[in-house]
Amino acid sequence: MSRFFSTKFDDLEPYVPGEQPGNIDNVLKLNTNENPFPPSKNVINALSEDEICRLLLYPDPYCTKLNETLAKELKVDFNNVYTGNGSDEVLAFCFYAFSDKGFAFPDLTYGFYSVFASLFNAETTIVPLRDDFSINIQDYDNITKNIIISNPNSPAGLFLPLDEIKKLIEKNKDRLIIIDEAYIDFGAETAVPLTKIYDNLLIIRTFSKSRSLAGGRLGAAIGNESLIRDLNTIKFSFNPYNVNRLTQIAGTEAIKDKEYFEYTRSEIIKAREYTKYEMKKLGFSVFDSMANFVFAGRHDKISGKEYFEKLRKKNVIVRYFNTPREKDYIRISIATIKEMQKFIDITMEILQEK
Ligand SMILES: *Cc1c(COP(=O)(O)O)cnc(C)c1O
Repeated sequence: MSRFFSTKFDDLEPYVPGEQPGNIDNVLKLNTNENPFPPSKNVINALSEDEICRLLLYPDPYCTKLNETLAKELKVDFNNVYTGNGSDEVLAFCFYAFSDKGFAFPDLTYGFYSVFASLFNAETTIVPLRDDFSINIQDYDNITKNIIISNPNSPAGLFLPLDEIKKLIEKNKDRLIIIDEAYIDFGAETAVPLTKIYDNLLIIRTFSKSRSLAGGRLGAAIGNESLIRDLNTIKFSFNPYNVNRLTQIAGTEAIKDKEYFEYTRSEIIKAREYTKYEMKKLGFSVFDSMANFVFAGRHDKISGKEYFEKLRKKNVIVRYFNTPREKDYIRISIATIKEMQKFIDITMEILQEK
């Protein structure tokens, strides 16, 4: 740290992203929940030489076409959507904009929430998940802070049913409820329609997981017009051009190609169910994930850490969280069926070597 760095950041511990190896040719990369399929052909075709030449101009700061397309897709109005540079940036602006009350969130969830809270000086209350890694909404009853919940949640991939979310919103009309729906397209039910009824609900979406655009950096927020206006106030005080030209086009085209979206997500769901089934057969405890990852472990023959390390030696990268509650498991991102078959084969090899 230089002698110029503000002392207010003394306790800031930055987020540590999952490993992004430079060369992935011989690697089975199952660690950061990216989509195994390339973006839609329509995206690829739309990013033409002409569009690249237009990079000499600033992008549309209002993301008009992208936001119109997204609003139509989600059956909300243009004034109910906001897009930003990855949902990480959207979340950062939320923690910044709505920091007065502080935030409550689960002990095990997306690691960035606590980093943003620290960066923007928001107080936090950490609410432990149940022993089975599910969220008990009653645990949030006597807290006055805003609530942020990832649904489905990582690492187990479990989801809160819509009626539970509805109860949470209704019980807490004076607190903002943020539902991070990064993994919603893989089988759980969205709370987006509830944004028309409740002004204390904000939904966060990303194009990184179900739209194959992790490298494009695009995320969104959906909510009451006044919440969206607040996010725009922050954005226009920080970086009005936060979504670049090519990403605005890529996002628009990705939404419009519904057929490809349906195909890729159903392939991932099939591969996930296959993986759960095979892992259970091999003797692992497997959570009933509704996301594009599976959390598995507690095997008689191998610890979570050893399994992670042995996979690494065989060029398979998964995610291992070395915390007391997570250390017996690994988190495996779901790729194509073929890649998941390879993963299961390698796991069988590892178990046989024991
Ligand atoms: C992946 C993920 C994000 C980040 O998405 P980006 O749009 O790539 O920044 C946010 N929240 C959760 C829960 C995620 O899993």
